[in-house]
Amino acid sequence: MKQFDVPVFYRSPLISAIKRKRKEKDKLKKDFSPTFLDFGPVQIYLARHFGFCYGVENAIEIAFRTIDQNPGKRIYLLSEMIHNPQVNKDLLSRGVHFLQDTHGRQIIPFADLTPDDIVLIPAFGTTLEIEKKLNTIGIHTEKYNTTCPFVEKVWNRSEVIARKEYAIVIHGKPTHEETRATFSHAAFNAPSVVVKNMAQTIELAKYITGEKPAEDFYEEFKGQYSANFDIAKDLDRLGVVNQTTMLASDTQAIADYLKQVMIEKYGLTKETLADHFADTRDTLCYATNDNQTSVSQMLHTAADFAIVVGGYNSSNTSHLVELCEEKLPTYFVSSAEKILSRDKILHYNFHSRQELLTRDFLPDHTPVRILMTSGASCPDALVEQVIEKITGFFNDTIPTDQVAANFLLV
Ligand code: SF4
Repeated sequence: MKQFDVPVFYRSPLISAIKRKRKEKDKLKKDFSPTFLDFGPVQIYLARHFGFCYGVENAIEIAFRTIDQNPGKRIYLLSEMIHNPQVNKDLLSRGVHFLQDTHGRQIIPFADLTPDDIVLIPAFGTTLEIEKKLNTIGIHTEKYNTTCPFVEKVWNRSEVIARKEYAIVIHGKPTHEETRATFSHAAFNAPSVVVKNMAQTIELAKYITGEKPAEDFYEEFKGQYSANFDIAKDLDRLGVVNQTTMLASDTQAIADYLKQVMIEKYGLTKETLADHFADTRDTLCYATNDNQTSVSQMLHTAADFAIVVGGYNSSNTSHLVELCEEKLPTYFVSSAEKILSRDKILHYNFHSRQELLTRDFLPDHTPVRILMTSGASCPDALVEQVIEKITGFFNDTIPTDQVAANFLLV
C-alpha cells in the first residue's frame, strides 16, 4: 500500500517498529492475534491492526502539504478533517479555518469565500450540493479533495445499484459527514433512504409490507429520504450500502433482514431474488474490517480491562469500544491526559455521550493485563503516550526500548 508523508510527531517509534515487524512476518494479513508487550507489572496486548488508515494518512498528507505550499493564502476545511481532536487542533493552529461543524452547521458563511481561497474537502467527502456551491463561487476543489477512495467506492456501488433501477438503503449515521455525502451521491441516481440501526430498519420494513400507513413514513424518516421519495413504490426493488465504518455484524444483520422481508413479500426464490433485492456485499472499508477483526481476536485474551484511544465523535472507534465492552470493562479515552492519576480515569460513554470519571480503574494485583487499540483516525503517538502514562504508575517496569527490543528479537 502507498506510503504517505505524515508529520513525524504523529508517529510512535515503538508502534512503528511493531507494525513493521508484524507486517514483515505476516505479509498476507492472515494473523489477527494481538501483540504482547511485557512491561513486567503491566502487560499490554495491542490489537494487530489499529491507527491511521489509508484515507486518513492521505488526507493528512494533502492538508499539511497544502499549508506548506500556500503561505499567505486563506485555507479552509469544509469541516473536521478527520474525527481526531489532536489532528484538527494542529490544523487550526496552523491557520486553517473550519467552514462547518461536524453536523453540517455553518461556522463561516460560504458568502465570505473568494475564488482565491483554498477549501479542503475532508476524508469523508462532501455532498454534491456543497461541491456545486463552491464551484459557483469559483473555488475548484479537485486539487484539495482528500475524499477517501474507499468512500468513493461506496458512491460507485450506489451508482451501479441505481443503474439497475434499485432504490438505495444506506446503513449509516444520518448526521455523520460521510453518510450525508453518500446520501447526496446516492440520491442523485436513485430514490434513497438512510437507516441508522436495526430498530429503524424494522420500522422501514413495516412500510414495505404495508403494516404501517405510507403517510407516516415521511414524518418518521424526516431528513433521511431523498426528494420525491414515494414509499408506496420506491422500495419495490432495493439494494443496501453502508457507511464505511459501521459494525460489520450490524450491517450484515440489516441486509439479511431486508432480504428476508423482500423474499417473503414477493415469494422470491434464489433465481428471482435479484428482481427485488440487489444481493451485494457490504461497503465497509478494509481498515474497519481489519480493526474489528483484530479486536475480536484480541478479546480471546483474558485481561483486566481494555483501553480504546480515539476521538469521541469517531464512528469507527466507537464500534471498537462496542465490541470490547461486551467482554470486559472498557475505557474510551481521547488522549493520555484523560488518565488523571493511578486512581482516576476520565473516559467517554458514547451511548450517553458523556465523559465519566471512574476511580480505582487499576486492579490491586500485578501483572495488570490490558487490551489496547485505537481508531483509524488516531495517531500512534497518542497510543504510546497512553502506554507510557499507565506504565509510569508502576515501579520496576521494563523500559520501553527494552520491551521493543525484546519484541523485535522474537
Ligand atoms: S476509515 Fe476507511 S473509509 Fe474512512 S478514511 Fe479510513 S480507509 Fe477511508
